[in-house]
Amino acid sequence: MKREFAVIGLGRFGGSICQELSREGMEVLAIDNDEDKVNEFKNIASHAVIADSTDEASLKELGIKNIDHVIVAIGDNIQASILTTVILTDLGIKKITVKAQNDYHEKILNRIGANTVVHPERDMGKRIAHSIISNNILDY
Ligand code: ATP
Repeated sequence: MKREFAVIGLGRFGGSICQELSREGMEVLAIDNDEDKVNEFKNIASHAVIADSTDEASLKELGIKNIDHVIVAIGDNIQASILTTVILTDLGIKKITVKAQNDYHEKILNRIGANTVVHPERDMGKRIAHSIISNNILDY
């Protein structure tokens, strides 16, 4: 059965998640408040819509309640990311994954009910460092 996802924020991180989920055949609702971003994803996601995710009524109208897993990929605007996450938890979304911008943001997101908090730049930096170390060990 196809699982349903929503990706809020179609920057490099959210856009890449949206693209990959769609490529894997998942149903993806792509949301951004920037029309150009939404147009970029019209032919990639199942649905691409312009909406401000800090507006609870708009999210309700989009039927976000019926979605299995919502990914919040708003980076720079921490306030919008937090408010969106609060709205999603209030609406009873079961799985919420949120991109954190820094450690304080991450702490708040965990407190307000995000199920998974990711910090892509930091996590990728750690992974690459480990991979560099293990490759060096193999080289000797
Ligand atoms: P990346 O590094 O992944 O490109 P970023 O950390 O620079 O992303 P932003 O550019 O701040 O992240 O935000 C990602 C996207 O989220 C942008 O396309 C922006 O238009 C969108 N966005 C920001 N606020 C909202 C909002 N309130 N509702 C919907 N989309 C939003």
